[in-house]
Amino acid sequence: MKIAILGAGAMGSMIAGYLVKKHDVILVDVWKEHIDEINKNGLRVRFKGEETTVRPKATANPQDAKDSDLVIVFVKSIQTTAALEQNKALLGANTLVLSLQNGYGNDEDILKFVPKENVIMGTTDRAASMIGPGYVNNSGGQYIHIGPLGDDKSKAELAAKAFEECGLNTDVSDKQHVQEIIWEKLMINCANNALVAIMDVNTPQLAGEYLSDAFKMLMRESVEVAKAYGLPFDYETFVEKDNALLASLVKEAHTSMWQDIHHERRTEIDRMNGAIVRLGKAKGVPVNCNELIVHLVHSMEKRYM
Ligand code: NAD
Repeated sequence: MKIAILGAGAMGSMIAGYLVKKHDVILVDVWKEHIDEINKNGLRVRFKGEETTVRPKATANPQDAKDSDLVIVFVKSIQTTAALEQNKALLGANTLVLSLQNGYGNDEDILKFVPKENVIMGTTDRAASMIGPGYVNNSGGQYIHIGPLGDDKSKAELAAKAFEECGLNTDVSDKQHVQEIIWEKLMINCANNALVAIMDVNTPQLAGEYLSDAFKMLMRESVEVAKAYGLPFDYETFVEKDNALLASLVKEAHTSMWQDIHHERRTEIDRMNGAIVRLGKAKGVPVNCNELIVHLVHSMEKRYM
């Protein structure tokens, strides 16, 4: 399969390390140093202390990745529209576009450029971080869940087969179930991601006294918002899932928003807690805790933006 990965940062590079085993993979990014390093010396992937070098192609010019069979969008959610606008050449009439990004509204952004029947949405617990140009740390993870935006699952199954061939476990769900899974990840992000950044703690520390109360307050609000949109969630199950997640993390783990703040990058707050605030207000569900978090994170961004 001819696969273009739009956004060759941590997740894009990590997944390229797998997909390059069986597919014609090209990374597309505006980060010139990274692109040049991959083309010159290959992409180094560190996983559990071991390092391998793989050789996907890499480019800043979308013409080099014209008419791909599959485009995997791995820019930050706040960058999706601009990135697709600048890289329309990747999209042929039959190109499938897959998003495993975090946050709310990625599907709406992609639909501005791609017909619904070619859009595949999903989520993953896989994680990665950049060590430097041409060098990514694969932090591991177990699953990728994907599903169609429309009714037909067959294109999502095609993408899943391409992933499975390279050792990436991938489940395919119908359109409704995949939306539930995306919401589930959104709500866990809304409870944990910003709180770790604001408090400057390790993610597992959220399970401790006081902070666990704070994340439960955020979770309770988000669950009420989700229920207002017909999602079949219940608060107790979510808190249990979140506690299990925190217990499974290595003690040095930090959330992506913590990393964004530390690297002085714009965060995805408006697509996480900010989305819960907008959605909650539209249905008259109280969202004060999430709104406070949004203000605090924007105020932290203001220190460098
Ligand atoms: P990242 O910041 O490491 O990578 C994003 C890349 O997109 C950067 O290399 C950037 O240069 C590139 N980019 C930005 N604008 C572009 C444009 N116009 N054209 C081409 N490239 C452009 O981000 P990440 O950590 O890989 O996260 C990507 C998405 O995956 C986010 O939604 C994130 O929340 C989600 N996610 C991340 C992790 C993780 O562990 N890092 C885990 C699960 C999900």
